[in-house]
Amino acid sequence: MLGCRVDALTLNEALEVLGRFIASGKPHYVVTLNAEMAYRAMHDPRFRDIVNRAGLVTPDGAGIVWAARVLGNPVPERVAGIDLVQALAVRAAEEGWRLFLYGGAPGVAEEAGRRLKERHPGLNILGTSHGYLSPGKEEELLKNLKKTSPDVLLVALGSPKQEYWMARHLAGLGIPVAIGVGGSLDVLAGRAKRAPRFMQELGLEWLYRVVREPKRVKRALALPKFMIAVLAEARRTRGRRK
Ligand code: UDP
Repeated sequence: MLGCRVDALTLNEALEVLGRFIASGKPHYVVTLNAEMAYRAMHDPRFRDIVNRAGLVTPDGAGIVWAARVLGNPVPERVAGIDLVQALAVRAAEEGWRLFLYGGAPGVAEEAGRRLKERHPGLNILGTSHGYLSPGKEEELLKNLKKTSPDVLLVALGSPKQEYWMARHLAGLGIPVAIGVGGSLDVLAGRAKRAPRFMQELGLEWLYRVVREPKRVKRALALPKFMIAVLAEARRTRGRRK
C-alpha cells in the first residue's frame, strides 16, 4: 500500500514464518507496520526501502487493516507487535528458541524479561539491554550479541530508529529473527498499559495512547494524512480498472 509491502498473514501464520526463519539460520528482520510508519515510508524512500526489504511486514494497527480493505487487498487480521511478542514467548518456551531483549529505559528490558520468564518458565532469555547506549556501549552490545547468538532479538527503540538499527546491524550479527517492537517492552514490564479491549476492537488504540501521552498528538496526525492518501490511491486504482 502506498509503495509499502504488507504481508497478509494471521498472527499464527506469522509465527510459522518466524519458525522457518529460525530453522534457516539466516538473518531476517520483521517490521510491525502502523499507519504512522506507512505515512513516513511514503515520503522517505530510505525508510520505505528498509520496510520493503524486511523478511516480514505485519499489519500492526487498525489504520493498516482499514487501508488494506479500502485498497482491495484485505489482510486477515491485525498483527500488533505486542501480540506477536506474547505469542512468540509461548512458542519460544515450547521450541527452546533463545531470546535477547534490547531497548527501553534502563531496567525496562530486564523487568520485561523477568515477567516473561515468570509467565513462561521454560523460556530462555540470554540477555537484556536498555536502549540508550553510548556508541562505545553499543559496540559492546554488538559483540555480546555475536557471542551469545540468540535466535530472536526484540528491538524496542521506537520507529524509525529500530528499523534503521536492524537494517544496519542484522546481517553482520547473523541473528535469524529481529523484530522491531516499539513500546512493547514497556507494556511487558508493566510500565505502559494497553488500551482496553473494546478500544482495540474499535480501532482506537492510537486515541488511548494520545490521551495517556498528549505529546503523541503530533505523531497521531499522521493517521488522517495516511487515510487521505489511501483514499486518493483507492480512487486512482478504481479509475485505472474502469
Ligand atoms: N527508546 C529507546 N531508545 C531510544 C529511543 C526510544 O530504547 O533511543 C525506547 C523508549 O524507551 C520506548 C520505545 O523505544 O520504550 C518507543 O516506544 P514507542 O511507544 O514510542 O514506540 P512506537 O510508538 O514507535 O512503537
